[in-house]
Amino acid sequence: MSTDISSPVRTRFAPSPTGFLHLGGARTALFSWAFARHLGGTFILRVEDTDVQRSTPEAVQAILDGMAWLGLTHDEGPFYQMQHMDRYREVVGQMLASGQAYHCYSTPEEVEAMRELARAEGRKPRYDGTWRPEPGKTLPAVPAGRDPVVRFRNPQDGEVSWNDLVKGPIAIANAELDDLIIARADGTPTYNFCVVVDDWDMRITHVIRGDDHVNNTPRQINILRALGAEPPIYGHVPMILGPDGDKLSKRHGAVSVMQYDEQGYLPEAMVNYLARLGWSHGDDELFTREQLVSWFDGAHLSRSAAQWDPKKLNWVNAHYLRQLPADELAARVAPRIVARGGVIEGNAPLADVLALLAPRAETLEQLADEAMLFYRPFDPSATPPELVEQHLTPEARALLREFAADTAEIDWTPEALSAAMKTLLARHGLKMPKLGIPLRVAVTGQAQTPAVDAVLALLGKNIVQKRLHNI
Ligand code: GLU
Repeated sequence: MSTDISSPVRTRFAPSPTGFLHLGGARTALFSWAFARHLGGTFILRVEDTDVQRSTPEAVQAILDGMAWLGLTHDEGPFYQMQHMDRYREVVGQMLASGQAYHCYSTPEEVEAMRELARAEGRKPRYDGTWRPEPGKTLPAVPAGRDPVVRFRNPQDGEVSWNDLVKGPIAIANAELDDLIIARADGTPTYNFCVVVDDWDMRITHVIRGDDHVNNTPRQINILRALGAEPPIYGHVPMILGPDGDKLSKRHGAVSVMQYDEQGYLPEAMVNYLARLGWSHGDDELFTREQLVSWFDGAHLSRSAAQWDPKKLNWVNAHYLRQLPADELAARVAPRIVARGGVIEGNAPLADVLALLAPRAETLEQLADEAMLFYRPFDPSATPPELVEQHLTPEARALLREFAADTAEIDWTPEALSAAMKTLLARHGLKMPKLGIPLRVAVTGQAQTPAVDAVLALLGKNIVQKRLHNI
């Protein structure tokens, strides 16, 4: 797509606040944001809350939280459609006055009967235009006491076409399109109409949205043209499928972006991973937010549906975990340790613990789980009895006591501890597991830990000596 755009680029993310910010919405927001940033344009947040039955303040907050977590800052808004009602009514009034819209008194039952008839006659089910004014046509008498809906007078000839950023050229015959209701009998404007008026008023130049909206686009373009507005450029991104090829849903795990925060994913990783769902830059899989912005020019958007791949997300997340400076990683893991009842103060330095654990970890949650080894109160009686029976045999206990004596005066470093272990094993002609596993069980209550010399060094001399004397 050409980046030779004379007017400044203005994109918007326009969620309906009926639930959390789901992954598809987050991806749409990311694309709109990155495109605006790439072209030095403006990114607008517009909350489409006209479905009063289903919209909730909690959902609005969830969307704001999700956007903030991902770092998708908007330049204008949030705007709320419920606050634009007067404006929508004003435009409806103008369209009625200019003849671009008309009152229709057909009841929903009558319209349904028209559709039935069309179906029975093998035609496309549609409103039959009873109330559509035409030159020389006499309209029926207005039924007393009935409030009309307002319909858009859709062109009947020709076609409406656009060059979709993602799907390429699309053309729909106007004959396929009904005269859309733009205001209900109670005066409230309908969904497509509010979108059109806002896109027009907000001078939106590019609409990037899910392809579930592709059927709305020809209707929206026709209304924009009737209003004398230049339609924006549209890009309809295909949906995200679950790993099994079905539409991504709760069944596949978390669908709210904030759940990924809870599960220990980094926003940096989510942004990187989401960007690759339906967009590519050569073979690049790992890139920074800055690189994304510098590359995201609206090209290379995929026409086929993207597939959610939890393993790949974990791989991307592991990459970003390892990229974080030690103190930053510690700051992100610390609250998760505290939430587990861990006490960091006075125990092993968290940055050092994480340096040991991070090379094998995929999420912050996993790091917090594993770090608890160093921060939970140690209760030897909580060690599973089968571990005690198998590994803390009388011979093993004797060996551990000897190890405690050997290390009572040493420099408490992984190197010195490792050397002490080797000397002790050599003295008894034993192999490493004979000492390593009992040591772990005695000192941590578990048979598997990272490298035992590193674990002992981090736990500290006092703690290790005390625990070895208490076996
Ligand atoms: N409010 C619509 C939605 O949440 C988006 C409308 C649009 O982007 O035009 O799906």
